[in-house]
Amino acid sequence: MDFFEKLGKKATETFNSAAEKTNKIASEAKIRIKMNDCKSKIKDIYQDIGKIVYQKFVLEGKIEVKEDIEEQLTKIKEYTDQIEEYEKQILELTNLKQCENCKNKIDKNAKFCPECGAKQPEEPVHEAEVLENEENQDEEEIIEDVSNEVEETLEDTVEEDNNNE
Ligand SMILES: [Zn+2]
Repeated sequence: MDFFEKLGKKATETFNSAAEKTNKIASEAKIRIKMNDCKSKIKDIYQDIGKIVYQKFVLEGKIEVKEDIEEQLTKIKEYTDQIEEYEKQILELTNLKQCENCKNKIDKNAKFCPECGAKQPEEPVHEAEVLENEENQDEEEIIEDVSNEVEETLEDTVEEDNNNE
């Protein structure tokens, strides 16, 4: 293999593995941002509930205020479900799952939990769902991250080649 062939191969290998890694990290970060957004929305809703209860119960003397906060309660449930969904996506992304018994994070393919020994239910595999929409979006980020690694590889390869001569 000549110098450029070797360089090209190395750079491609580095790019592929680094891109895959970076893609996962970027996807996880995105999910976490969305998750935090849900959490802060829930916090806002609790604040709204506080205001409504203060207004209705304390100021207006209304005993039964549940109907006044029905909408807020529904939203909290929605955001909580959404957060749970994001948590699942992150587990999927990192090849982990949650033990049904002790809730520890364990290997996705584990048949038994290494923490508590509980037998894990066999689940149908549904990978790739998470990444589908995210792909292609992070190319610039990936290229930026990877170009550093390629640069390093380039330096290594040049050094190696100089030693061979
Ligand atoms: Zn367990």
